[in-house]
Amino acid sequence: MAEQEASGLQVLLSTLQTSCDKDVILNILGVLTNLLPLGTSRRIHYMISKGGSEALLQALTTTAQAEPPDHSTLLPLLQLLARVGQRDRKFGLKVQKAEATDIILSLARRNLGHYLHLTHCLWVLRVCASNVTTGTTLGINGAMELLFKIISPYSKRHIRTVRAAIEALAALLKSKSNSRRAVNRGYLGGLLRLYQDWHQNDVSNNYIYIRRGLLLCLKHITNIQQGRETFLGSQGMEILFTTVQDCLSCKNLDPITNTAIQILRKCYPKEPLPVETEGSCYSFPLPGNSNAESSHEGSEGDYESDGEEESEKDLDSEDVESKEEDYDLETDVNKLRSRPVLDWPEEELGQYEAMCQELSHKFQDLESESEEEKILEDRTESLLSTPSHFIPNATSVKHPGYVWGSQSMAETGQDPGEKVFKVPLQSWAKMKKCKWDPADEKRDIVEGTQDADSCEDGDSARSHTLTMHPPLKEGDWYKKIFGPDCEVLINSSPGGRRESSDMVANLLEKHQRNIPFHSPHFYLARAKCVKSIPGYKDVAFPDFWGHQPPPYSKPMLERKYGVQRDKVLDDVRRLIQPGDVIGRTVFDLEKHSDSSPGAPACLKFFSEFESGNLRKAIQVREFEYDLIMNGDVNSNQHHQWFYFEVRDMKLAVPYRFNVINCEKLNSQFNYGMQLVMYSVKEALQGRPRWLRAGQDICYYKNHYCCSAAAGGGPRGKCYYTLTFSIKFPHEDDVCYLAYHYPYTYSSMMSHLDILEQNRNPKKVYWRQQTLCQTLGGNPCPLLTITAMPDSKKSDDLEQFCSRPYVFLMARVHPGESNASWVMKGTLEFLVSKDPIADLLRKCFIFKIIPMLNPDGVINGNHRCSLSGDDLNRQWLTPNPQLHPTIYHAKGLLHYLRSIGRAPVVFCDYHGHSQKNNVFLYGCSIKETLWQAGCMVDTADITEDVGYRTLPKILDKVAPAFVMNSCSFLVEKSRESTARVVVWKEMGVLRSYTMESTYCGCSHGLYKGLQLGTQELEEMGSKFCLGLLILHLKSFPCSKKLMVQAALLLDLEEEITDRVQRSCSSSSLETDDEPPCVEEIDYNTDSCSDGDGDLELDQEIQECLSWVEGDVEDEGATTEQTCSSKALRGLYISSQPASSSTALPLRSAALGLYSGFKSSPA
Ligand SMILES: [Zn+2]
Repeated sequence: MAEQEASGLQVLLSTLQTSCDKDVILNILGVLTNLLPLGTSRRIHYMISKGGSEALLQALTTTAQAEPPDHSTLLPLLQLLARVGQRDRKFGLKVQKAEATDIILSLARRNLGHYLHLTHCLWVLRVCASNVTTGTTLGINGAMELLFKIISPYSKRHIRTVRAAIEALAALLKSKSNSRRAVNRGYLGGLLRLYQDWHQNDVSNNYIYIRRGLLLCLKHITNIQQGRETFLGSQGMEILFTTVQDCLSCKNLDPITNTAIQILRKCYPKEPLPVETEGSCYSFPLPGNSNAESSHEGSEGDYESDGEEESEKDLDSEDVESKEEDYDLETDVNKLRSRPVLDWPEEELGQYEAMCQELSHKFQDLESESEEEKILEDRTESLLSTPSHFIPNATSVKHPGYVWGSQSMAETGQDPGEKVFKVPLQSWAKMKKCKWDPADEKRDIVEGTQDADSCEDGDSARSHTLTMHPPLKEGDWYKKIFGPDCEVLINSSPGGRRESSDMVANLLEKHQRNIPFHSPHFYLARAKCVKSIPGYKDVAFPDFWGHQPPPYSKPMLERKYGVQRDKVLDDVRRLIQPGDVIGRTVFDLEKHSDSSPGAPACLKFFSEFESGNLRKAIQVREFEYDLIMNGDVNSNQHHQWFYFEVRDMKLAVPYRFNVINCEKLNSQFNYGMQLVMYSVKEALQGRPRWLRAGQDICYYKNHYCCSAAAGGGPRGKCYYTLTFSIKFPHEDDVCYLAYHYPYTYSSMMSHLDILEQNRNPKKVYWRQQTLCQTLGGNPCPLLTITAMPDSKKSDDLEQFCSRPYVFLMARVHPGESNASWVMKGTLEFLVSKDPIADLLRKCFIFKIIPMLNPDGVINGNHRCSLSGDDLNRQWLTPNPQLHPTIYHAKGLLHYLRSIGRAPVVFCDYHGHSQKNNVFLYGCSIKETLWQAGCMVDTADITEDVGYRTLPKILDKVAPAFVMNSCSFLVEKSRESTARVVVWKEMGVLRSYTMESTYCGCSHGLYKGLQLGTQELEEMGSKFCLGLLILHLKSFPCSKKLMVQAALLLDLEEEITDRVQRSCSSSSLETDDEPPCVEEIDYNTDSCSDGDGDLELDQEIQECLSWVEGDVEDEGATTEQTCSSKALRGLYISSQPASSSTALPLRSAALGLYSGFKSSPA
């Protein structure tokens, strides 16, 4: 049957090409028309593959040369050509080959007065012009003049023809030379006037397609520079801006609105950023290399490819993207083969012996602890519960007001006496060990409960224990903490006490015990030692005071319909109504005095504190500010991270903020992610929290671009705007806004202090050393954590020494603060009294570098170190001077390998800005070769699939983790990342990058929710649990351990099962991308014009119901109300069957167009 059809079609086509018999041609056309119902493509593509286009073009040439041309044949022929042509990618070429451009053009000219014929010619013209070369030829031959004559001046007569002409013109204008010609002939102004006429006269919106067609013409013309200039000179911005206002309220007019906005964005004159230099305003002289600074400028061709994140490309070219990704895969088997070599000077390795003292430790003091210490230790043990180790259930996650405290312990079956998981930190003034007063402890718990109650109800009146905060006069009081007075707090000298410090001390007494593993005093002590480039003198309140995760998670933000276009139009309004723009710089990092102190009603900004990043703030309108982030030190790019203080706000007013120098091509901010906010007033009322905040969030390309004059980076680099609105919770508050939950270097250092103090020294072996000093002169800590040996017996000591190593690192990329929160969870779990942690410590020796890039974190960088380098691209050949932390981390790993102790698991914690969930990147030769479609015989390659075990386990035990998001491909562009280098050079099978989303989860328990610090920390602790299970599955271990583990893990599984059951109803698998009501066109370069195929088909369909060629919509006749189907029937019945054909006609539907014979010529 299919064969028959094929041969039948081929006979039809070849007959069509050769026959001169009008009836035969007409019949064939009839059959073809019937074979190819409107709106379907499959058959047409088949016909194209059989030479359909060529046959039709040949028939056209033949028919058009007849004198006078026979329209009864031409019309169905042209219609078929239009329909086939629009689906034939090579149609333009075929038209040229058949030398048919002139024929079509002259046919159109000859039919200027006959609108039905003309319309058919225009359809074909439009299809021809979809090929740029053919379009250019048509333009040279005067096609645009012809079309312009048809469409102007404005008239509602011959609507169909006008529409066809406008659409053909739009197609022609895709050719740049045609656009140039159109501009030179003044058509742009004409099109604008015509658009205005249509806009004004089409009151009831009957001619949307015409108005959009005209906009498409403008859109294509303005692709050329000359077009944009002329557009601006012709008041194009004003005209489109004004007219589009009338369309906003009507959703039907979206095609018009969206196209108009695309033009407005494109034509908005490019401007350099309003800063003197685009590089960072901090610079750092690099050791031994005076050129180093400049050598980094624009040197990173792959500056967009983000660490382990997939390199981001223009989303318009998805096909290209996937191809390039495959192309990036390493396919050289020799390079892929993991082959450990000691690529390190041996004499250098000796220094790392000191970092592995556990291997030579004698534990002389093991059984000689004093009674007193034992008491203390037991006390600590019972108080230090593990907040991050339990799995919250769906109720606790989804329902605001839930109190974590009681839940957690019930789930893990702990003693009710430990219900409130607070770490009662020692009295602040004393840094040494202290003795606990049971009465104190009791009071703490009572207060804690009250606090929790007040949170639950959200009833501030009940938080009476917290009402003694001082009046926030101008939000300034707390600053005193960081002035000279803070000395008083830290080194309590009797004569130096002042009132404010009393007050602060009082406050701290009251509130600070509520935050586990945080101490403001420890924080200050650490912050004072930090070496920053600007020499910070202030501390951000949230880092100092501490953060408590809110009792509920926030769902991803639903995107409001049309939010982006409203914002974009607001931006355009600045150009149209410049008088409304204030344009006052209210904060400038480079000119401290320039903060407009006396400016009325304006916010005050500040960012000179650890991890702070705001370079400039410009007040645009009363409640709108443009913000510019500082670039990474010694770099002119990487603006994404932000963290700043803002105050003097009014209540209940939505402030709009625009971060105008973002660089990534797209952002999770377009898919439900919110930034985070911290309110000082809220904190003082007992809710010290970073919360997801911001409404009307979107992320789009703006009109700022990199200027060479300002020392910008890669030429032509464009910037993106992140815009959001915030209603602050209190009047005259001090608030902090950040890209993600901040976690500073001092936070990490003071956290380590607290962990060390609170651990059980009898059980936890803890050693904190300095891996090396950073470029900026800050120590980079290295931790060793494992279990103390059970005794001094040689068996126990042997077991201790033979534990395999696990090597963990985080925060090589400073902007990825989520990685630090995960690491925080890991560390807290590792030193905790949780029996699983206890067991885990007996299984492994952990080597942990919790912050690989302290300088970057301190100075508010997004991606780089002080050398301006992405440190996760330096692992192949780290430079000891420029990349000390990487150099020594790698050195230590080489040392471990050299003594036969390479880690069994290596994991580098990162954050991912484009994807949801938490997942691992690993390395597999076979998966890489398969994915690349490599022809190598992989049967010869042996590969241990053990790299998949840990992610599979994590998928089961960690609610945020999703196995399906993992990838085990080795990309060429990642050859210098930690993951690939450790895998290849150290032969570590389980070498991973762990990526945590900035946003939320698309699967599992947290589906649809944004992650908070609680969930990130939980991920860190679940990672540990995963390691224990991995150990049981993959490594030899004692029977005793097995039994203990089996008991514990059964319990664990029960909990996990229960939790997952409770949310199974909502965990159906879906797409990775959260839904978005609006098609996001964040990029002005988008060139999609909608589905042209369907549009033209529809036009033809409409035209079939149009009986008398020139009757207009307005003057509908009775015949017109007939459906096209009825008309077909009519014509078929009146058509005599042809006797001259022996073709296998299976349909009698012939000669539809013969009905037009009688129409006036
Ligand atoms: Zn990263």
